[in-house]
Amino acid sequence: MIVVKVGGSAGIDYDAVCADIAARWKNGERLILVHGGSGETNRVAEALGHPPKFVTSPSGYTSRFTDRQTLEIFEMVYCGKMNKGIVERLQRLGVNAVGLSGLDGRIFEGKHKDSVRAVENGKVKVLRGDHTGTVERVNTHLIDLLLAGGYLPVLTPPASSYDGVAINVDGDRAAAALAVALKADALLLLSNVPGLLRAYPDESSLIREIPAADVENYLEFAQDRMKKKVLGAAEAVQGGVRRVIFGDARHGQPVSAALDGQGTVVS
Ligand code: ADP
Repeated sequence: MIVVKVGGSAGIDYDAVCADIAARWKNGERLILVHGGSGETNRVAEALGHPPKFVTSPSGYTSRFTDRQTLEIFEMVYCGKMNKGIVERLQRLGVNAVGLSGLDGRIFEGKHKDSVRAVENGKVKVLRGDHTGTVERVNTHLIDLLLAGGYLPVLTPPASSYDGVAINVDGDRAAAALAVALKADALLLLSNVPGLLRAYPDESSLIREIPAADVENYLEFAQDRMKKKVLGAAEAVQGGVRRVIFGDARHGQPVSAALDGQGTVVS
């Protein structure tokens, strides 16, 4: 089983990702796709007059502050436009894909975090009314049913809180939790960069290999949102996934290239 997470940043070629996945799926490989949608969510949020608000925690992690209205815009884009766009691509390629969020069947569950500590103008503030959390539990029953029926699951945040409230969760870490729960052979984290760069944005500074035991030491190279990918990789390998690859989803055959070791391989 391979878990593929494809990001939501500018430049990602979803046609290339879907074509590659469809070919491998038809060859008998079992795959699950997890996707993001942050770039499009930002655009739609601006257009709807509710621009995105990003907050940075005291430990340096950036996340989207998700009030109720933001959550609804987030769902429109992630569960709607992005998810159905990918499902449609796969259906056109002859793959019977089913798109679900982590809320459906409570595939992704975690604690609802209503407040977030954020650094603003050098001061730490507590912001309330947040709908976020981290995936702590993956309920694989529905996924197993889909796979057994020959359907390719296409999953996206939000997740469900233990009380059934929709929460915005990081897609990379959700994919990592899924890969652990399914005992996947590999987790691919595909984005609009060649992999983890030692000197971002210099693409020639690609880090080709990271020993699994060492992955947290590489957090220092990742800025802002890339940190979540490194953290997700650490969680996946610590949970027993043998290979995590940060790969490029901008062109070619992104899944096959990553599985061939192009990108940053954590193992
Ligand atoms: P996605 O939505 O595609 O999953 P993110 O925007 O969450 O991707 O994270 C990937 C982004 O992280 C890259 O587009 C890049 O701008 C940024 N980044 C920060 N530091 C690094 C780094 N050291 N190597 C590669 N990318 C980095």
